[in-house]
Amino acid sequence: MAVLAIAPAEELPDISSELENTNRAPQRVIKHKGLIMISPQHPLSPADLTWRCYSCDLSQLSFSHQDVPCANIDDVLGGIGRGFRILEDHPIDDAYDPNAALLMNLGVLSGTMFMTGLRTYFHAYSPLKRSKAGLPSAMWTAGSGKFGTKLRFLGVEEVLFTGRAPHPVALHITRTGDEPATFNFIDARDLVGKRVNDKIQTLYQRFPEAHFAVLGPAGENYEKVRFASIALSTENQLKSGDPKPRFCGRGGIGGVMGSKNLLAIIADIKDRKAASGESFKKLNMEVARGDGSRRFRDKDTNNLGGTWANYVSFNSKHAMPEMNFTPTGTDVSVPLYRENVQKTGDFVIKDESCFRCGIKCHKNVYDVNEDGKAGQFRAKLDFEPLNLLASNLGLFDADRACTLVELVDEMGMDSISCGVTLGYAMEYNRRHQNDEKQLAGGLSYGDFEATRDAILAMGTGQLGELSQGTLRLSEQTGETDYAMQGKGLEYPAYLPQTNPGYPWALAGGHMSMRTFFILLNEQETDLDYWVDAITSPKKGLSIIRDDLLGTCKFSTMSSADMASAITEITGVEITEATLEQAVMRAFLRGYRLEKRQGFTQDDYVLPAQSHEEHPQIDLPYFNTQEFFSQLQERVTERFDSLLQEHGLTVS
Ligand code: SF4
Repeated sequence: MAVLAIAPAEELPDISSELENTNRAPQRVIKHKGLIMISPQHPLSPADLTWRCYSCDLSQLSFSHQDVPCANIDDVLGGIGRGFRILEDHPIDDAYDPNAALLMNLGVLSGTMFMTGLRTYFHAYSPLKRSKAGLPSAMWTAGSGKFGTKLRFLGVEEVLFTGRAPHPVALHITRTGDEPATFNFIDARDLVGKRVNDKIQTLYQRFPEAHFAVLGPAGENYEKVRFASIALSTENQLKSGDPKPRFCGRGGIGGVMGSKNLLAIIADIKDRKAASGESFKKLNMEVARGDGSRRFRDKDTNNLGGTWANYVSFNSKHAMPEMNFTPTGTDVSVPLYRENVQKTGDFVIKDESCFRCGIKCHKNVYDVNEDGKAGQFRAKLDFEPLNLLASNLGLFDADRACTLVELVDEMGMDSISCGVTLGYAMEYNRRHQNDEKQLAGGLSYGDFEATRDAILAMGTGQLGELSQGTLRLSEQTGETDYAMQGKGLEYPAYLPQTNPGYPWALAGGHMSMRTFFILLNEQETDLDYWVDAITSPKKGLSIIRDDLLGTCKFSTMSSADMASAITEITGVEITEATLEQAVMRAFLRGYRLEKRQGFTQDDYVLPAQSHEEHPQIDLPYFNTQEFFSQLQERVTERFDSLLQEHGLTVS
């Protein structure tokens, strides 16, 4: 069996003589600018490759590993395609069941020299996402940083966690030479109660070569908090000491990790040379300088790059969430435009990156010092957290927004779920201001101090009515029409009024269904167009491609370029069409897993308020109940027939 050729370069064996004596495709080992690569003269097949899977039983504090032959191209790619396949074998009724599976894995380009190849994935049955039948649903969450790169250097592509440790532990992974990695379980009781950055910096003092995946207080209080995240350390964070991790935020998968009493994972190894391909230099130039990532880069946008720019795009059409996804139709959010925050002179905004990434999408905000330079770090502002923890809560001040965004991150909560649930509670209280019914002590729009206190209480499990998430809270109040969630997952900062594709997103609206920009950019309202947009691997589903590969969506590379990068790194011939088929299969596996957990057509809906006309939104009104009913029927028919075509029956 040949070795999967994405190990760190110094581990790649010279197998040319071995191959001369076999029927397998001949390969040659070549050197390029100091890097060693395997370059196949003829393509390999998936069956020529293996991946290394570690199993970790936390109840016994034991581990083992096996090298698993790749059965097909999905196994070669890794990421969510392989993740869903493994979750199929571990169905459960309770996300926090000790027997529940928590799978951590990489994509094929994670930890290679491909720019943005930094993704780590966690897969589990979510404590937040669920069917109307009441069963938890499979999903994934992804994050960048440098943790995934360290896993690759350790030769750890996949870990399946089961069981529950007898007390809080941290998993310390090390490796000697080219031996398989060793897992040690460290007593982590001293980490309990620490916030995210404190945990990471404490561990960094002890393990200076390592990178880290950690929980905040929310993950420790998983029984009360359904939207705990997992934080992944960045180089910048370790060097500066500032709280600048990346987050695997969606779906409450941090709570699943917490339910296993696993507080941290320490990937401890010195950097090695990462695997590369002959064309990576050219491809990386395109990632860093090309049109695809232009809007995220400061250099090419007059210092206005990043997702923060969505404030201008959406708010200029009054199509941006304010007051629980009900745009005011006013200019009240304009002070939060990046340009206007810069003009205050109160902040320095820097573009920074996870590790070795030329896009530098992080827009890190600092207080300004007397000398005009960056002082204390305040927050990393992206569109979704900023919108959902500021405008959507009736707060329009950058200083306060920074405080809330940073606090949610530090508590280890998903900012989308947290912000939307707060918005729901505020709207409920507004509607009930004249009766006795109030949530969270009467929390109201624009009340910064009360919001900050509520976030602190949510993160430590002391405000359980809110930290159960919007779906469960709205079921408790009996008012679901304005609960901005689908299948239990809170919507990101894009209006459901303008996006009837939300119900089919597998893992959060904007990360797994690319239909949230369509109305703004194309103003399409035709039923046939929307059926195609939701079901096509070239449109709505295209966004999950990078979650097969280990790359960041912000690189926005063509599938042809990605296919050639994978071919170079694995030796397996991949085409654009192969990738599209893999995208479709991954989606269908996730969709089938939903059905196996009791999802029916009734689960694929939008909250009733989404279908009402909002005249202040300066975009066409088309998402009526009648339009959506027809769309739902057509999309269901299409996906169900694709399940048959791909041999993925639901039984
Ligand atoms: S684009 Fe942003 S999130 Fe992605 S790798 Fe680069 S810096 Fe990290």
